Amino acid sequence: MDDDYYLSCEEDEEEEEDDYDKVDYDQYEQAQREETTKSTSRIMTNESLVAAQKEVLARVMELLTLKKSQARTLLIHYQWNVDKLLDVYSERGKDSLFKTAGLTVFSHTSLSESRYSLRKKMTCEICMDDDLQSYTMTRMDCGHCFCNNCWKEHFTVKINEGMSKRITCMAHKCNAICDEDVVKKLVYPELAEKFDRFLVESYVDDNKRVKWCPSTPHCGNAIRREDDGGEVECSCGHQFCFSCLSESHSPCSCLMWKLWKKKCEDESETLNWITVHTRMCPKCSKSVQRSDGCNLMTCICGQHFCWLCGGATGLSHTGTTIDGHSCGKFKEEKVKQIEIAKRDLKRYTHYYHQYRSHTDSSKQEFKLRESVREKVASLSEKTLKSEQKWASNGADLLFRSRKVLSYTYVFAFYMFGEELFKDEMSDEEREMKKILFENLQQQLIGYIESLSKTLNQPFDDYSSDELEKMSDETMRFGIVVDNLCKEMYECIENELLGPTVAGHNHSIAPYRSEGIEKAIEFWC
Ligand SMILES: [Zn+2]
Ligand SMILES: [Zn+2]
Ligand SMILES: [Zn+2]
Ligand SMILES: [Zn+2]
Ligand SMILES: [Zn+2]
Ligand SMILES: [Zn+2]
Ligand SMILES: [Zn+2]
Repeated sequence: MDDDYYLSCEEDEEEEEDDYDKVDYDQYEQAQREETTKSTSRIMTNESLVAAQKEVLARVMELLTLKKSQARTLLIHYQWNVDKLLDVYSERGKDSLFKTAGLTVFSHTSLSESRYSLRKKMTCEICMDDDLQSYTMTRMDCGHCFCNNCWKEHFTVKINEGMSKRITCMAHKCNAICDEDVVKKLVYPELAEKFDRFLVESYVDDNKRVKWCPSTPHCGNAIRREDDGGEVECSCGHQFCFSCLSESHSPCSCLMWKLWKKKCEDESETLNWITVHTRMCPKCSKSVQRSDGCNLMTCICGQHFCWLCGGATGLSHTGTTIDGHSCGKFKEEKVKQIEIAKRDLKRYTHYYHQYRSHTDSSKQEFKLRESVREKVASLSEKTLKSEQKWASNGADLLFRSRKVLSYTYVFAFYMFGEELFKDEMSDEEREMKKILFENLQQQLIGYIESLSKTLNQPFDDYSSDELEKMSDETMRFGIVVDNLCKEMYECIENELLGPTVAGHNHSIAPYRSEGIEKAIEFWC
Protein backbone atom coordinates (compact mmCIF):
# COMPACT_ATOMS: atom_id res chain seq x y z
CA MET A 1 0.00 0.00 0.00
CA ASP A 2 1.28 3.42 -1.00
CA ASP A 3 2.04 5.49 2.09
CA ASP A 4 0.42 8.57 0.65
CA TYR A 5 -2.69 6.77 -0.33
CA TYR A 6 -5.00 8.32 2.19
CA LEU A 7 -3.77 11.78 1.27
CA SER A 8 -4.49 11.32 -2.38
CA CYS A 9 -7.46 9.00 -2.27
CA GLU A 10 -9.92 11.80 -2.88
CA GLU A 11 -8.37 12.67 -6.23
CA ASP A 12 -7.59 9.28 -7.67
CA GLU A 13 -9.96 6.98 -5.90
CA GLU A 14 -11.67 6.20 -9.21
CA GLU A 15 -8.75 4.35 -10.75
CA GLU A 16 -7.11 2.94 -7.68
CA GLU A 17 -9.58 2.06 -5.01
CA ASP A 18 -10.81 -1.27 -6.32
CA ASP A 19 -7.40 -2.87 -6.58
CA TYR A 20 -6.23 -1.52 -3.29
CA ASP A 21 -9.33 -2.57 -1.47
CA LYS A 22 -9.14 -6.10 -2.75
CA VAL A 23 -5.48 -6.60 -2.00
CA ASP A 24 -5.51 -5.06 1.44
CA TYR A 25 -8.76 -6.50 2.49
CA ASP A 26 -7.55 -10.00 1.72
CA GLN A 27 -4.42 -9.37 3.72
CA TYR A 28 -6.50 -8.07 6.56
CA GLU A 29 -8.62 -11.21 6.56
CA GLN A 30 -5.52 -13.34 6.31
CA ALA A 31 -4.02 -11.60 9.33
CA GLN A 32 -7.15 -12.41 11.31
CA ARG A 33 -7.07 -16.05 10.34
CA GLU A 34 -3.39 -16.48 11.16
CA GLU A 35 -3.85 -14.93 14.56
CA THR A 36 -4.50 -18.10 16.47
CA THR A 37 -1.55 -19.96 15.02
CA LYS A 38 1.07 -17.36 15.86
CA SER A 39 -0.32 -16.23 19.19
CA THR A 40 2.34 -16.18 21.88
CA SER A 41 -0.17 -16.04 24.72
CA ARG A 42 -1.99 -18.95 26.29
CA ILE A 43 -4.95 -19.04 28.62
CA MET A 44 -4.36 -21.10 31.71
CA THR A 45 -7.34 -22.29 33.70
CA ASN A 46 -6.95 -23.81 37.13
CA GLU A 47 -6.68 -27.31 35.66
CA SER A 48 -4.03 -26.37 33.15
CA LEU A 49 -2.08 -24.54 35.86
CA VAL A 50 -2.02 -27.71 37.95
CA ALA A 51 -1.07 -29.80 34.93
CA ALA A 52 1.66 -27.44 33.73
CA GLN A 53 3.12 -27.24 37.19
CA LYS A 54 3.08 -31.00 37.62
CA GLU A 55 4.84 -31.46 34.33
CA VAL A 56 7.63 -29.02 35.19
CA LEU A 57 8.04 -30.51 38.66
CA ALA A 58 8.23 -34.04 37.26
CA ARG A 59 10.84 -33.00 34.75
CA VAL A 60 13.11 -31.40 37.35
CA MET A 61 12.58 -34.28 39.83
CA GLU A 62 13.59 -36.79 37.22
CA LEU A 63 16.55 -34.91 35.77
CA LEU A 64 18.07 -34.11 39.15
CA THR A 65 16.68 -37.04 41.20
CA LEU A 66 14.96 -34.81 43.70
CA LYS A 67 11.98 -34.92 45.99
CA LYS A 68 8.99 -32.85 44.95
CA SER A 69 9.47 -30.22 47.64
CA GLN A 70 13.11 -29.79 46.68
CA ALA A 71 12.24 -29.44 43.01
CA ARG A 72 9.58 -26.89 43.91
CA THR A 73 11.93 -24.84 46.07
CA LEU A 74 14.44 -24.73 43.23
CA LEU A 75 11.77 -23.80 40.70
CA ILE A 76 10.36 -21.03 42.86
CA HIS A 77 13.88 -19.66 43.24
CA TYR A 78 14.35 -19.70 39.47
CA GLN A 79 10.86 -18.29 38.88
CA TRP A 80 9.76 -21.52 37.19
CA ASN A 81 12.28 -20.99 34.43
CA VAL A 82 13.44 -24.58 33.90
CA ASP A 83 15.97 -23.69 31.22
CA LYS A 84 17.74 -21.25 33.48
CA LEU A 85 17.72 -23.76 36.31
CA LEU A 86 19.25 -26.45 34.10
CA ASP A 87 21.84 -24.00 32.77
CA VAL A 88 23.04 -23.31 36.30
CA TYR A 89 23.06 -27.05 36.98
CA SER A 90 25.16 -27.94 33.93
CA GLU A 91 27.52 -24.99 34.37
CA ARG A 92 28.08 -25.01 38.09
CA GLY A 93 26.85 -28.35 39.36
CA LYS A 94 24.26 -29.53 41.83
CA ASP A 95 25.82 -28.13 45.02
CA SER A 96 26.03 -24.62 43.63
CA LEU A 97 22.51 -24.87 42.23
CA PHE A 98 21.19 -25.95 45.63
CA LYS A 99 23.16 -23.37 47.55
CA THR A 100 21.86 -20.41 45.54
CA ALA A 101 18.29 -21.55 46.19
CA GLY A 102 18.95 -22.04 49.92
CA LEU A 103 18.67 -25.81 49.73
CA THR A 104 21.10 -28.31 51.24
CA VAL A 105 21.61 -31.81 49.98
CA PHE A 106 21.04 -34.00 52.98
CA SER A 107 22.12 -37.54 53.22
CA HIS A 108 21.10 -39.08 56.47
CA THR A 109 19.65 -42.35 57.49
CA SER A 110 15.90 -42.68 57.75
CA LEU A 111 13.64 -43.32 60.71
CA SER A 112 14.34 -47.01 60.61
CA GLU A 113 17.71 -46.24 62.16
CA SER A 114 18.29 -48.40 65.22
CA ARG A 115 18.50 -45.62 67.81
CA TYR A 116 14.93 -44.68 66.93
CA SER A 117 13.76 -48.16 67.63
CA LEU A 118 10.11 -48.61 68.49
CA ARG A 119 10.76 -49.32 72.09
CA LYS A 120 12.91 -46.35 72.85
CA LYS A 121 11.18 -43.32 74.42
CA MET A 122 11.98 -40.04 72.69
CA THR A 123 11.96 -36.36 73.69
CA CYS A 124 10.57 -33.47 71.62
CA GLU A 125 12.85 -30.46 72.03
CA ILE A 126 9.97 -28.06 71.45
CA CYS A 127 7.32 -29.18 73.94
CA MET A 128 9.79 -31.09 76.11
CA ASP A 129 7.56 -34.14 76.24
CA ASP A 130 9.96 -36.97 77.01
CA ASP A 131 7.57 -39.87 76.88
CA LEU A 132 7.09 -40.14 73.11
CA GLN A 133 7.01 -43.18 70.85
CA SER A 134 9.03 -42.82 67.67
CA TYR A 135 5.92 -43.14 65.45
CA THR A 136 4.50 -39.94 66.95
CA MET A 137 7.63 -38.11 65.85
CA THR A 138 8.60 -36.85 62.40
CA ARG A 139 12.08 -36.26 61.15
CA MET A 140 12.61 -33.79 58.31
CA ASP A 141 15.23 -33.98 55.58
CA CYS A 142 17.49 -31.70 57.58
CA GLY A 143 17.60 -34.31 60.32
CA HIS A 144 15.58 -32.38 62.88
CA CYS A 145 13.01 -34.47 64.65
CA PHE A 146 10.03 -33.18 66.65
CA CYS A 147 6.68 -34.53 67.78
CA ASN A 148 3.81 -34.50 65.29
CA ASN A 149 1.72 -32.16 67.46
CA CYS A 150 4.43 -29.54 67.42
CA TRP A 151 4.91 -29.89 63.65
CA LYS A 152 1.19 -29.66 63.10
CA GLU A 153 0.92 -26.47 65.09
CA HIS A 154 3.89 -24.99 63.24
CA PHE A 155 2.43 -25.82 59.80
CA THR A 156 -1.03 -24.56 60.76
CA VAL A 157 0.35 -21.19 61.84
CA LYS A 158 2.46 -20.87 58.69
CA ILE A 159 -0.35 -21.80 56.30
CA ASN A 160 -2.72 -19.38 58.00
CA GLU A 161 -0.06 -16.69 57.70
CA GLY A 162 -0.06 -17.38 53.95
CA MET A 163 3.62 -18.37 54.02
CA SER A 164 3.09 -21.89 52.88
CA LYS A 165 5.30 -21.82 49.79
CA ARG A 166 8.38 -22.08 51.96
CA ILE A 167 7.63 -23.53 55.36
CA THR A 168 11.00 -23.84 57.03
CA CYS A 169 12.02 -26.27 59.77
CA MET A 170 11.19 -25.43 63.40
CA ALA A 171 14.72 -25.95 64.66
CA HIS A 172 16.61 -22.81 65.64
CA LYS A 173 18.50 -21.31 62.67
CA CYS A 174 17.55 -24.19 60.37
CA ASN A 175 16.34 -22.87 57.01
CA ALA A 176 15.54 -26.21 55.40
CA ILE A 177 12.20 -26.31 53.57
CA CYS A 178 9.77 -28.86 54.98
CA ASP A 179 8.62 -31.71 52.78
CA GLU A 180 5.23 -30.72 51.33
CA ASP A 181 3.85 -34.26 51.60
CA VAL A 182 4.62 -34.33 55.31
CA VAL A 183 2.94 -30.95 55.72
CA LYS A 184 -0.22 -32.13 53.98
CA LYS A 185 -0.30 -35.36 55.97
CA LEU A 186 -0.09 -33.63 59.35
CA VAL A 187 -2.54 -30.71 59.04
CA TYR A 188 -6.36 -30.74 58.87
CA PRO A 189 -7.76 -31.56 55.40
CA GLU A 190 -9.15 -28.03 54.84
CA LEU A 191 -5.74 -26.61 55.55
CA ALA A 192 -4.06 -29.17 53.28
CA GLU A 193 -6.40 -27.97 50.53
CA LYS A 194 -5.50 -24.34 51.17
CA PHE A 195 -1.84 -25.31 51.14
CA ASP A 196 -2.31 -27.01 47.77
CA ARG A 197 -3.99 -23.92 46.38
CA PHE A 198 -1.08 -21.76 47.53
CA LEU A 199 1.32 -24.09 45.81
CA VAL A 200 -0.61 -23.83 42.54
CA GLU A 201 -0.76 -20.06 42.88
CA SER A 202 2.98 -19.90 43.41
CA TYR A 203 3.33 -21.12 39.85
CA VAL A 204 1.74 -17.84 38.76
CA ASP A 205 2.97 -15.51 41.50
CA ASP A 206 6.63 -16.41 41.11
CA ASN A 207 6.61 -16.84 37.38
CA LYS A 208 7.67 -13.96 35.17
CA ARG A 209 5.92 -15.39 32.13
CA VAL A 210 2.56 -16.08 33.76
CA LYS A 211 0.14 -13.51 35.17
CA TRP A 212 -3.38 -13.60 36.54
CA CYS A 213 -5.95 -11.92 34.31
CA PRO A 214 -6.67 -8.65 36.20
CA SER A 215 -10.40 -8.69 35.39
CA THR A 216 -12.83 -7.84 38.19
CA PRO A 217 -14.62 -9.99 39.16
CA HIS A 218 -11.70 -12.30 38.47
CA CYS A 219 -12.41 -14.73 35.63
CA GLY A 220 -10.09 -17.34 37.22
CA ASN A 221 -7.66 -17.45 34.31
CA ALA A 222 -3.96 -16.90 34.21
CA ILE A 223 -2.14 -16.09 30.98
CA ARG A 224 1.22 -17.35 29.91
CA ARG A 225 3.07 -15.13 27.48
CA GLU A 226 6.33 -15.85 25.67
CA ASP A 227 6.99 -12.25 24.61
CA ASP A 228 7.95 -9.51 27.03
CA GLY A 229 5.33 -6.86 27.71
CA GLY A 230 2.74 -6.05 25.07
CA GLU A 231 -1.02 -6.25 25.36
CA VAL A 232 -3.21 -9.30 25.51
CA GLU A 233 -6.89 -10.22 25.56
CA CYS A 234 -8.08 -12.92 27.97
CA SER A 235 -10.81 -15.35 26.92
CA CYS A 236 -13.10 -13.41 29.30
CA GLY A 237 -12.73 -10.44 26.93
CA HIS A 238 -10.63 -8.29 29.25
CA GLN A 239 -7.80 -6.51 27.43
CA PHE A 240 -4.80 -5.55 29.49
CA CYS A 241 -1.16 -4.54 29.49
CA PHE A 242 1.03 -7.53 30.36
CA SER A 243 3.67 -5.26 31.90
CA CYS A 244 1.64 -3.20 34.36
CA LEU A 245 -1.64 -5.18 34.35
CA SER A 246 -3.71 -2.02 33.81
CA GLU A 247 -6.31 -1.88 31.07
CA SER A 248 -4.59 -1.73 27.67
CA HIS A 249 -3.22 1.78 27.12
CA SER A 250 -1.05 1.75 23.99
CA PRO A 251 0.38 4.03 22.53
CA CYS A 252 0.79 5.44 25.98
CA SER A 253 3.65 3.92 28.00
CA CYS A 254 3.09 2.24 31.37
CA LEU A 255 4.76 5.15 33.17
CA MET A 256 2.69 7.76 31.33
CA TRP A 257 -0.47 5.81 32.05
CA LYS A 258 0.36 5.49 35.73
CA LEU A 259 1.05 9.23 36.03
CA TRP A 260 -2.09 10.08 34.09
CA LYS A 261 -4.38 7.91 36.20
CA LYS A 262 -2.94 9.44 39.34
CA LYS A 263 -3.34 12.93 37.92
CA CYS A 264 -6.98 12.31 37.07
CA GLU A 265 -7.66 10.97 40.54
CA ASP A 266 -5.72 13.15 42.91
CA GLU A 267 -5.70 16.65 44.15
CA SER A 268 -3.03 18.28 42.01
CA GLU A 269 -5.49 19.66 39.50
CA THR A 270 -7.90 20.73 42.20
CA LEU A 271 -5.02 22.57 43.82
CA ASN A 272 -4.26 24.35 40.58
CA TRP A 273 -7.88 25.34 40.31
CA ILE A 274 -7.85 26.75 43.82
CA THR A 275 -4.66 28.69 43.13
CA VAL A 276 -6.14 30.22 40.02
CA HIS A 277 -9.67 30.91 41.20
CA THR A 278 -9.46 31.72 44.90
CA ARG A 279 -7.54 33.83 47.42
CA MET A 280 -6.97 33.28 51.09
CA CYS A 281 -8.68 35.67 53.50
CA PRO A 282 -5.99 37.62 55.44
CA LYS A 283 -8.02 37.39 58.64
CA CYS A 284 -9.41 33.86 58.92
CA SER A 285 -7.40 32.08 56.17
CA LYS A 286 -10.45 30.64 54.40
CA SER A 287 -10.31 30.34 50.62
CA VAL A 288 -12.60 32.81 48.95
CA GLN A 289 -13.71 32.39 45.35
CA ARG A 290 -13.92 35.43 43.12
CA SER A 291 -17.49 35.82 41.97
CA ASP A 292 -17.23 38.70 39.49
CA GLY A 293 -14.53 40.78 37.86
CA CYS A 294 -14.25 43.12 40.82
CA ASN A 295 -10.97 43.24 42.74
CA LEU A 296 -12.66 43.66 46.12
CA MET A 297 -13.15 40.35 47.86
CA THR A 298 -15.39 39.78 50.85
CA CYS A 299 -14.94 36.76 53.09
CA ILE A 300 -17.84 35.17 55.00
CA CYS A 301 -16.08 36.38 58.18
CA GLY A 302 -16.80 39.93 57.01
CA GLN A 303 -13.24 40.85 56.10
CA HIS A 304 -12.70 42.75 52.85
CA PHE A 305 -9.50 42.26 50.95
CA CYS A 306 -7.82 42.85 47.63
CA TRP A 307 -7.94 40.15 44.92
CA LEU A 308 -4.62 41.23 43.48
CA CYS A 309 -2.43 41.26 46.57
CA GLY A 310 -4.56 39.56 49.20
CA GLY A 311 -4.14 42.52 51.58
CA ALA A 312 -6.94 43.58 54.00
CA THR A 313 -8.93 46.65 52.85
CA GLY A 314 -12.08 48.61 53.54
CA LEU A 315 -15.31 48.26 51.61
CA SER A 316 -15.34 51.48 49.59
CA HIS A 317 -14.03 50.90 46.07
CA THR A 318 -14.46 51.34 42.34
CA GLY A 319 -13.96 48.64 39.71
CA THR A 320 -10.21 49.17 39.65
CA THR A 321 -9.23 50.85 42.92
CA ILE A 322 -10.00 50.29 46.59
CA ASP A 323 -10.12 53.37 48.84
CA GLY A 324 -7.02 53.77 50.98
CA HIS A 325 -5.38 50.72 49.43
CA SER A 326 -2.32 51.07 47.29
CA CYS A 327 -1.69 47.79 45.62
CA GLY A 328 1.56 46.64 44.05
CA LYS A 329 2.59 44.59 47.03
CA PHE A 330 1.58 41.57 45.05
CA LYS A 331 4.81 39.61 45.15
CA GLU A 332 6.29 38.65 41.84
CA GLU A 333 6.75 35.07 42.94
CA LYS A 334 3.07 34.78 43.71
CA VAL A 335 2.21 36.11 40.26
CA LYS A 336 4.52 33.57 38.67
CA GLN A 337 3.07 30.73 40.71
CA ILE A 338 -0.44 31.65 39.70
CA GLU A 339 0.57 31.98 36.06
CA ILE A 340 2.14 28.51 36.07
CA ALA A 341 -0.87 26.97 37.79
CA LYS A 342 -3.14 28.69 35.26
CA ARG A 343 -1.12 27.42 32.31
CA ASP A 344 -0.86 23.86 33.67
CA LEU A 345 -4.56 23.74 34.42
CA LYS A 346 -5.45 24.95 30.95
CA ARG A 347 -3.13 22.44 29.32
CA TYR A 348 -4.38 19.52 31.38
CA THR A 349 -8.02 20.49 30.81
CA HIS A 350 -7.45 20.56 27.06
CA TYR A 351 -5.93 17.10 26.89
CA TYR A 352 -8.34 15.66 29.41
CA HIS A 353 -11.38 16.78 27.42
CA GLN A 354 -10.05 15.27 24.20
CA TYR A 355 -9.19 12.06 25.98
CA ARG A 356 -12.58 11.89 27.66
CA SER A 357 -14.63 12.61 24.58
CA HIS A 358 -12.90 9.88 22.56
CA THR A 359 -13.13 7.46 25.46
CA ASP A 360 -16.86 8.15 25.62
CA SER A 361 -17.17 7.55 21.88
CA SER A 362 -15.30 4.27 22.22
CA LYS A 363 -17.90 3.15 24.76
CA GLN A 364 -20.62 3.87 22.21
CA GLU A 365 -18.65 2.04 19.55
CA PHE A 366 -18.17 -0.94 21.81
CA LYS A 367 -21.97 -1.30 21.74
CA LEU A 368 -22.02 -0.60 18.02
CA ARG A 369 -19.98 -3.77 17.47
CA GLU A 370 -22.87 -5.77 18.87
CA SER A 371 -25.60 -3.95 16.98
CA VAL A 372 -23.68 -4.25 13.70
CA ARG A 373 -23.47 -7.99 14.21
CA GLU A 374 -27.17 -8.16 14.97
CA LYS A 375 -28.00 -6.23 11.81
CA VAL A 376 -25.81 -8.53 9.73
CA ALA A 377 -27.60 -11.52 11.23
CA SER A 378 -31.00 -10.04 10.35
CA LEU A 379 -30.13 -9.30 6.72
CA SER A 380 -32.48 -11.06 4.35
CA GLU A 381 -31.47 -14.37 2.80
CA LYS A 382 -30.88 -12.95 -0.65
CA THR A 383 -27.81 -11.01 0.55
CA LEU A 384 -25.34 -13.68 1.46
CA LYS A 385 -24.42 -13.30 5.11
CA SER A 386 -20.92 -14.61 4.69
CA GLU A 387 -20.15 -11.62 2.52
CA GLN A 388 -20.98 -9.17 5.29
CA LYS A 389 -17.80 -9.65 7.32
CA TRP A 390 -16.73 -6.16 6.29
CA ALA A 391 -19.33 -4.78 8.68
CA SER A 392 -18.18 -6.54 11.84
CA ASN A 393 -14.53 -6.14 10.89
CA GLY A 394 -15.13 -2.44 10.32
CA ALA A 395 -16.85 -2.06 13.68
CA ASP A 396 -13.97 -3.85 15.42
CA LEU A 397 -11.45 -1.59 13.74
CA LEU A 398 -13.49 1.47 14.64
CA PHE A 399 -13.56 0.52 18.32
CA ARG A 400 -9.87 -0.29 18.38
CA SER A 401 -8.67 2.81 16.55
CA ARG A 402 -10.87 5.05 18.68
CA LYS A 403 -9.21 3.69 21.78
CA VAL A 404 -5.79 4.26 20.23
CA LEU A 405 -6.86 7.80 19.42
CA SER A 406 -7.98 8.54 22.96
CA TYR A 407 -4.66 7.28 24.40
CA THR A 408 -2.68 9.43 21.96
CA TYR A 409 -3.87 12.43 23.99
CA VAL A 410 -2.37 11.01 27.14
CA PHE A 411 0.80 10.28 25.20
CA ALA A 412 0.91 13.81 23.80
CA PHE A 413 0.26 15.34 27.21
CA TYR A 414 3.52 13.83 28.50
CA MET A 415 5.53 13.86 25.27
CA PHE A 416 5.10 17.59 24.77
CA GLY A 417 4.90 18.52 28.44
CA GLU A 418 7.64 19.30 30.92
CA GLU A 419 7.21 16.48 33.40
CA LEU A 420 9.07 13.75 31.50
CA PHE A 421 10.78 15.27 28.46
CA LYS A 422 11.64 18.82 29.56
CA ASP A 423 15.34 18.78 28.69
CA GLU A 424 15.11 16.42 25.77
CA MET A 425 14.44 18.98 23.08
CA SER A 426 14.45 22.68 22.38
CA ASP A 427 11.19 24.61 22.43
CA GLU A 428 11.23 24.96 18.65
CA GLU A 429 11.84 21.27 18.19
CA ARG A 430 9.04 20.44 20.59
CA GLU A 431 6.68 22.73 18.74
CA MET A 432 7.55 21.21 15.37
CA LYS A 433 7.09 17.67 16.58
CA LYS A 434 3.85 18.60 18.25
CA ILE A 435 2.50 20.03 15.00
CA LEU A 436 3.54 16.88 13.14
CA PHE A 437 1.81 14.67 15.69
CA GLU A 438 -1.33 16.76 15.92
CA ASN A 439 -1.58 16.74 12.16
CA LEU A 440 -1.71 12.94 12.22
CA GLN A 441 -4.21 13.03 15.07
CA GLN A 442 -6.47 15.37 13.11
CA GLN A 443 -6.39 13.17 10.03
CA LEU A 444 -7.14 10.12 12.16
CA ILE A 445 -10.09 11.85 13.83
CA GLY A 446 -11.53 12.77 10.43
CA TYR A 447 -11.42 9.23 9.07
CA ILE A 448 -12.56 7.64 12.33
CA GLU A 449 -15.61 9.93 12.33
CA SER A 450 -16.33 8.97 8.70
CA LEU A 451 -16.02 5.30 9.51
CA SER A 452 -18.27 5.75 12.52
CA LYS A 453 -20.90 7.58 10.50
CA THR A 454 -20.84 4.91 7.81
CA LEU A 455 -21.27 2.04 10.26
CA ASN A 456 -24.06 3.77 12.13
CA GLN A 457 -26.37 3.52 9.08
CA PRO A 458 -29.57 1.49 9.50
CA PHE A 459 -28.36 -1.07 6.97
CA ASP A 460 -30.53 -3.98 8.10
CA ASP A 461 -33.10 -3.16 5.43
CA TYR A 462 -30.77 -1.89 2.73
CA SER A 463 -30.96 -3.15 -0.82
CA SER A 464 -27.95 -5.02 -2.16
CA ASP A 465 -26.87 -1.90 -4.07
CA GLU A 466 -26.97 0.20 -0.95
CA LEU A 467 -25.13 -2.48 0.95
CA GLU A 468 -22.43 -2.58 -1.65
CA LYS A 469 -21.96 1.15 -1.44
CA MET A 470 -21.75 0.97 2.33
CA SER A 471 -19.27 -1.88 2.28
CA ASP A 472 -17.07 0.02 -0.20
CA GLU A 473 -17.07 3.04 2.06
CA THR A 474 -16.42 1.03 5.19
CA MET A 475 -13.46 -0.70 3.65
CA ARG A 476 -12.06 2.47 2.14
CA PHE A 477 -12.23 4.39 5.42
CA GLY A 478 -11.04 1.32 7.31
CA ILE A 479 -7.86 1.00 5.30
CA VAL A 480 -7.03 4.66 5.79
CA VAL A 481 -7.71 4.48 9.52
CA ASP A 482 -5.53 1.40 9.82
CA ASN A 483 -2.70 3.06 7.90
CA LEU A 484 -2.94 6.25 9.90
CA CYS A 485 -2.69 4.27 13.12
CA LYS A 486 0.43 2.55 11.81
CA GLU A 487 1.88 5.87 10.79
CA MET A 488 1.16 7.32 14.18
CA TYR A 489 3.06 4.51 15.91
CA GLU A 490 5.95 4.93 13.48
CA CYS A 491 6.01 8.63 14.25
CA ILE A 492 6.11 7.89 17.99
CA GLU A 493 8.93 5.41 17.55
CA ASN A 494 11.07 7.22 15.01
CA GLU A 495 10.38 10.91 15.58
CA LEU A 496 9.26 11.31 19.14
CA LEU A 497 10.43 8.73 21.69
CA GLY A 498 13.24 7.22 19.62
CA PRO A 499 15.57 10.22 19.48
CA THR A 500 15.24 11.04 23.20
CA VAL A 501 17.23 9.56 26.06
CA ALA A 502 14.23 9.30 28.37
CA GLY A 503 12.33 7.60 25.56
CA HIS A 504 14.05 4.34 26.42
CA ASN A 505 12.07 4.15 29.65
CA HIS A 506 8.87 4.08 27.64
CA SER A 507 8.12 0.91 25.80
CA ILE A 508 4.97 1.10 23.74
CA ALA A 509 2.93 -2.00 22.97
CA PRO A 510 2.97 -2.29 19.16
CA TYR A 511 -0.03 -1.52 16.97
CA ARG A 512 -1.58 -4.59 15.37
CA SER A 513 -4.02 -4.28 12.48
CA GLU A 514 -5.74 -7.44 13.63
CA GLY A 515 -6.29 -6.06 17.14
CA ILE A 516 -4.93 -6.88 20.56
CA GLU A 517 -3.54 -10.41 20.71
CA LYS A 518 -6.04 -12.94 21.98
CA ALA A 519 -4.63 -15.50 24.36
CA ILE A 520 -5.61 -18.98 23.18
CA GLU A 521 -6.68 -21.94 25.26
CA PHE A 522 -3.86 -24.02 26.65
CA TRP A 523 -3.63 -27.72 26.05
CA CYS A 524 -1.01 -29.85 27.67
ZN1 LIG B 1 6.53 -31.46 70.69
ZN1 LIG C 1 15.84 -28.52 60.43
ZN1 LIG D 1 -9.89 -12.96 32.12
ZN1 LIG E 1 1.20 -0.96 31.02
ZN1 LIG F 1 -12.23 35.56 56.52
ZN1 LIG G 1 -17.10 45.75 43.45
ZN1 LIG H 1 -3.94 44.94 46.59
